[in-house]
Amino acid sequence: MSFAELGLPAEIQRAIDELGYSEPTPIQARAIPEVLAGRDLLAAAQTGTGKTAAFTLPILARLRRHASTSVSPAMHPVRCLILTPTRELADQVASSVEQYRKYLPLRHAVVFGGINIDPQKEALRRGVEIVVATPGRLLDHIEQKTVILNRVEMLVLDEADRMLDMGFIPDIRRIISLLPKTRQTLLFSATFSAEIKRLSSEFMTDPITIEV
Ligand code: AMP
Repeated sequence: MSFAELGLPAEIQRAIDELGYSEPTPIQARAIPEVLAGRDLLAAAQTGTGKTAAFTLPILARLRRHASTSVSPAMHPVRCLILTPTRELADQVASSVEQYRKYLPLRHAVVFGGINIDPQKEALRRGVEIVVATPGRLLDHIEQKTVILNRVEMLVLDEADRMLDMGFIPDIRRIISLLPKTRQTLLFSATFSAEIKRLSSEFMTDPITIEV
């Protein structure tokens, strides 16, 4: 399969071409059409399989379809929230988002603990469509009202098994309780434990399951 067959917008195709990706990885070939179609997704994939692009590329495509033309930050609500267990992963995912959105009028912010919160507040204040975050620091922003999540259309739980192991599930429940019920949810995990399956039935609607 080629990337062209996936029907991604030209701006995204161009960014992929520049990165030298010649064809989608197996997780990308299977996940991208489902995410583009708006389905919830439960995917078992390890790091190194291309899982980040498997969710980032179709998310960008969907956000672009309904891209806002307004320049007012108030008109740029957060539309996609990507939760990761660690700051390192948040940073990596944000770098991928930055590469793939290069030719799109979409902005992102990355939010994690252990560093000064003020530059993150400033980035959020300017208005971003995509937020990549670790749960604890995101809750700080929620409490300080520097991020508003009531317009989120898409949620990604990346490395959900690690978030479980690290005890983030209560934080994640709190965050999800603030999101619209009608949204698309994607859960990526290295393994499908009983707990992951329980979470997926709690937070997702009729998800497609993909294991690679
Ligand atoms: P990930 O599994 O998301 O951590 O991605 C692993 C690495 O594969 C990253 O460095 C990506 O830039 C790269 N990558 C992702 N998709 C492709 C692709 N279709 N072709 C070549 N490299 C890719």
